[in-house]
Amino acid sequence: MRSIKEILAGARAGDRMTAGEALALLSAKGRDIFDICRTADEVREEKVGSTVTYVRNQNIHLTNICKNLCGFCAFGRRATDEGAFCDDLETLRNKVRQAQNNRVTEICLLSGVHPDFDANRYAGILACIRETAPGVHIHAFSPDEVNHAAVRSGLTTREVLEMLKDAGLGSLQGTAAEILVDSVRDVICPSKVSTAEWERIIREAHSLGIFSTATIMYGSCETPAERVTHLSILRDIQDETGGFSELVPLSFLHQNTRLYREGLAPAGATGREDLLLIAVARLFLDNFRNIQVPWGKIGLKLGQLALLSGANDLAGTMFSDDVSESAGASGADYLDPAEMERICHDIGRELRQRLTDYTLV
Ligand code: SF4
Repeated sequence: MRSIKEILAGARAGDRMTAGEALALLSAKGRDIFDICRTADEVREEKVGSTVTYVRNQNIHLTNICKNLCGFCAFGRRATDEGAFCDDLETLRNKVRQAQNNRVTEICLLSGVHPDFDANRYAGILACIRETAPGVHIHAFSPDEVNHAAVRSGLTTREVLEMLKDAGLGSLQGTAAEILVDSVRDVICPSKVSTAEWERIIREAHSLGIFSTATIMYGSCETPAERVTHLSILRDIQDETGGFSELVPLSFLHQNTRLYREGLAPAGATGREDLLLIAVARLFLDNFRNIQVPWGKIGLKLGQLALLSGANDLAGTMFSDDVSESAGASGADYLDPAEMERICHDIGRELRQRLTDYTLV
C-alpha cells in the first residue's frame, strides 16, 4: 500500500485511486488531514477553476406523510401522527408562485413517500408546477419514489420515468442512496429500495437522458469502508453513464432521530470526517466535476473550509428545508447569495449563479 504522501502525489498526477487508498485517506489523523484537503483543493482548481457556484432554488415540501419512516429522519410521519400534512394542488400552486416571486430557476421537491401516491399523482404534481411556472427546472423524486410509483401503478420503473419526463421532470434526485450497502440500509432505511434497485433505476434514468445528482448520507451507522464502497458504486455508474451532475454529501443530523435516540448511531460525523469526506470525494471521484458543500448540514463556517478542501458548489438558496430543521439543524433553510459572496470573497474565490445543469447565468 502506498503512503498517504504517495497517494496524494498520484492523485495530483491523475492516477485513479483504489478503494483501499481512499479508505486510508478517510482514516487519516493529525496534519495528514490538511495535506489531503490541500491536495483536493489543488485538484479542484485544476479541474473546475476557482469559481464557486450556486443555484437559485426553492425546496417545496408537498407532504411529510411517508411509508418509509427511516431511522435517520425526523421529518417523515404516519398519516395519523400530529403535524402530518399533505398539500392539495391549490396549496402547491401557491407555494410555486412564492418560489417564482423569489426568482428561482429551480424548484426542488422534498417530501415524504406518501403511501397513496401513484405514477399519475406524481405526473399531476409535475404538470401543475410546469403550468404555474413554465421554464422553471423541476428537480424531483428519488429512485425510491420512482419505484413506489411503479409498484402502485403496475408499471415498470422505465415507464414511470418516461411518464415523469413527459410531464416536466427536469432532473432526478440522487437521494434515497443513503449508504449503498444493504446491511447498513437494513438498519437505517429498511423500507427503501435495495442497493441493486437504486443503481438500476439511476442507470435507467440516465439512459433516458434524465440526469441526476448523487448523494451520500454519512455519519450514522456506517463504517469508513462502507463510505468508500458507496463512493465506488457512484464512480462506476458515472464511468458508464456520465449522468451525475454532482455529489451532494449529506452529513447525518442526529438530534431528533430514532437511530440516535435508540443508541444505534453516534451524534453525527465530526468536523474531521466532514472535511475528509469532501476532500476524498474530490480525489476519488475523478469523473465528477462538482462537489457540493452541504451548508445546511455542516454549517457555514465549516462549509467555508469545505470550499478549501475540494468543494466548488454552494448548492442552492433553498428558502426552506424542513427535513434538516426537523432533525435539529438551525439556519438550514435559507442562505442569502450575499452571504455566499462574503464567504467566497473571504477566501479569494469568485461566486457565480448557475442553473441546475451548471450552465453559468
Ligand atoms: S428520509 Fe425520506 S423516505 Fe425516509 S422517512 Fe424521511 S421523508 Fe421518508
